[in-house]
This record gives sequence, structure tokens and C-alpha cells, in this order.
Amino acid sequence: MSKPTVHIIGSGISGLRCAEMLLEFGLEVKIYEKSEKIGGRMRTDLVDGFLLDRGFHVMQTGYPHSKSKIDFKALDARSFNPGARIVNIAGGKPRISTYADPFRRPLSSLRLLGAERWSDLIGMAKMRISLSRMDIKNTFNQGDASTYEYLRSFGLSDSFIDRLLRPLFAGIFLESKLDTSERLFRFIFSSMSKGDMVLPRDGVAAYPNYLAKSIGFERISLSTSAHADDPVTINIGGHRKIVDQVVVAHTPPSEEKLMRGVWTVYFDSPRSPFPGKFLLLNGDYEIGKNAIAHMAVPSDVQPSYAPEGRSLVVATIVGDAADSLNLSNGKEIESRARKEIEQWFPDCENWNTLDVQYISAALPSHGAGTDLSYSKSFDENGIIYCGDHIAHATMQGAINSAESAAKEAIRRILT
Ligand SMILES: Cc1cc2nc3c(=O)[nH]c(=O)nc-3n(C[C@H](O)[C@H](O)[C@H](O)COP(=O)(O)OP(=O)(O)OC[C@H]3O[C@@H](n4cnc5c(N)ncnc54)[C@H](O)[C@@H]3O)c2cc1C
Repeated sequence: MSKPTVHIIGSGISGLRCAEMLLEFGLEVKIYEKSEKIGGRMRTDLVDGFLLDRGFHVMQTGYPHSKSKIDFKALDARSFNPGARIVNIAGGKPRISTYADPFRRPLSSLRLLGAERWSDLIGMAKMRISLSRMDIKNTFNQGDASTYEYLRSFGLSDSFIDRLLRPLFAGIFLESKLDTSERLFRFIFSSMSKGDMVLPRDGVAAYPNYLAKSIGFERISLSTSAHADDPVTINIGGHRKIVDQVVVAHTPPSEEKLMRGVWTVYFDSPRSPFPGKFLLLNGDYEIGKNAIAHMAVPSDVQPSYAPEGRSLVVATIVGDAADSLNLSNGKEIESRARKEIEQWFPDCENWNTLDVQYISAALPSHGAGTDLSYSKSFDENGIIYCGDHIAHATMQGAINSAESAAKEAIRRILT
């Protein structure tokens, strides 16, 4: 007798993780992916010998799933330095300072600068202590304020938030006001203080590819759009088929419109403009005034990201910052990015633009008051769903929802 088969729509990280669990349990799976490649938002393209992840994207070794399930050695992953550099214009000149490790050693790393107010140093230390006492799984259990309100509750000043935490978290949440739920902030800050930001040798697509290989590429149909008519009916190009169970592993198109967008500008530079494997935060970041939240040089971390003797430089412009400056196409974004970068690195005139990308549906919006303690894995019609949109806007959120969806599919097939 053939094994019951679960039909999964979408080959992003949630669809793949769901398939992996179902196979481990002894069921069969079939995956349908509407695009020509697997991986969903974890995609990497090869352009002129450079590896371009779709948007600046890292993997976090501090996530619970990373710790228990991902073999970072097999991905040959390498880490960014845990701190950040901050660039700001003072007296008409760029000034770059280094925060060695604001996540693990906030007091010592910030004191090195000698520029912060004591109340900010103490506020960071208090926040760090409060989060280090919390089990990472409990970071979602309480509080409905925004990230900004949460930071202010520790006595952090606006100038401190604007210099360090706003450009950093604007680039993570893909919104600049820090309206995102404090629960997500706590989870990400805790993960960053317990692990590293890493890049696999073959780009972020390496992880979905690794999963797909273990699942078996023969189980995945590419360039195949599918739809669930009900929990056990799959519809492919108008052909309806009754199956054992369907799992929808993508954001519904109606919700995609509400997602946050991001622009990314990729440059080929003859050398690294800020060596040291740090993220470079825009210390003057202000919505309506400037565009770039942060920059990175992925090839400093993972030399495979650029051909020998070249550097890949990536600038991130959050959708709301672009909108506030009325930047609406790739040409305007590139020209604005170059204008801002020129103040910090005048030799950027020697950089070639490799690509300018816009992802309109990059991350689901999880504002203050959003209950992120995910529990339900099916909709009002009983169709099983998974994806970061129903958990939280991270790889871990996508994985959590996938595991719940797999358990629900198993429960239904067994009963
Ligand atoms: C620029 C950017 C940076 C990010 N940075 C980080 C980070 O640093 N750390 C982190 O943890 N997370 C990050 N994320 C978030 C992370 O990438 C996502 O949470 C995760 O990839 C979501 O996976 P998913 O499976 O839920 O959805 P998706 O990856 O969107 O997968 C859904 C898949 O379903 C397919 N599909 C849709 N409709 C159909 C259909 N009708 N039929 C068949 N197939 C269909 C799509 O083509 C897609 O392949 C980032 C995201 C972006 C965009």
C-alpha cells in the first residue's frame, strides 16, 4: 500500500521544513513551487561572479532551530563580528566609531566610546540583564508595546536609539519607526546576544537547497502554481485532485499587499570600504531626511561572495524611508544611495553598480499589539497553513509554523 501523501504548496523555508518533518514521520510529500527556483525569500543569484542574496539577509546561529537542527559547518558558514560600526557626519566630515559588542557586553563596549550618556549605558545594561534572564521561548509571552516604547521604558534616550538601535532594527524589521511589537524585538535581540549573524559559503539559498537535497528534488515540481480548494483538494491549473492532505506554505496574495518592502543596492568595489566584518549603521538615520539604514560588505565575511580582488558592498534602504523621499524606481534609488555613500566614502565613484532590487512583499508587518504567540495552523475552512506571516517575521517564525502545520497534517492523517 502506498504511503499517505501531503501536498505542500510553496518551497520556501516553511514548506521545506514541513516536508522534512513529514518524511521523517514516514509520510510521503509532494511540493509545488510557482517560481523556477526553490527557497522563496531565501534566494541567492550569481551576477558577474558575485553572490547576491535577495536583500541583505543573514542566518542567526542563536535561533532555537539553528542551535538544534542546522549544521552550519556543512554550510561552511562564517560570522560577522558581533558589534557594529556607526558612521555619522560631524563638522562636515565622516566619523566612524565601533560598538564592539552591544548585545553581549553592552556596558564595556559602549563605554569605550566615551560619548554615551550614563543613563543610556545603564539602560542598555538593564535591558541586557532582563533579556538574559528570559528563556528565548518566553520572549513572546508578554507586553504589547512597540519596540520604541519598550526601549524608552529602559530609559534609553532618543539620540541613543537613533544612532544605534533605529538604523539596526529598521534594517531588520524593514520599518523605520520601530512600531514593531516589542515581542519580536526581544526575540531578535536575545538571539543576537546568544549567537552570531552568519553567511553560508553559497549564500543564504544554501540552507533551502540543503533541505531540498535531503527531501529529494524529485519530490518538488518547479514552475507549478497550485491552490487549495479545501483541506484535501489541490487545484493545479484548473485540474482538481482529491489528496490525503494539503498544506499551504506561502503568504496569501491578499496579505502580501500589507507586507513591508525593501530596496537593496549592490556594488562591486575594488576594495572593502570598511574592513572588519562589521555592519555599518547610518548614525544620522532619519526618515524623510536620508535613505540608507545600513551597509555591509558580505565578501569580507565570506570571500565566495565576490571574485578574487573585488568586494561586494550592499546598501539597505527600507521601503518607508524610500517612500518618505519619493524614491520610486531603481534609478532614483541608486542615485540617492550614491549621494549618501559619497559623504562617507568619496571613492565610491569607482564602484560599479551590480544591481538594484526591490522586494515589495519582504516581511509581514507585526506591529505593537500583535499577538505573536502563534498557536493556530489552519484557517476558517480548515486548510492547513504555514509561513512567517502567521508566526513572526523571521526564519524561526517560518520554521515554528511549519512544525505546527506538519503536526496537524499528521494528526489528521492518523485519525
Ligand atoms: C530582504 C530580506 C531579509 C531577511 N533577513 C532575514 C534575516 O536576516 N533573518 C531571518 O531570520 N529572516 C530574514 N528574513 C525573513 C525570512 O527570509 C522569511 O521569514 C522566510 O524566508 C519566509 O519563508 P516562508 O516559507 O514563510 O515564505 P517564502 O519564503 O515567501 O516562501 C513561499 C514560497 O511559496 C511560493 N508560492 C507562492 N504562491 C504559490 C502558489 N500559488 N503555488 C506554488 N508556490 C507558491 C513562493 O514562490 C515561495 O517560493 C528576510 C527576508 C527578506 C525578504
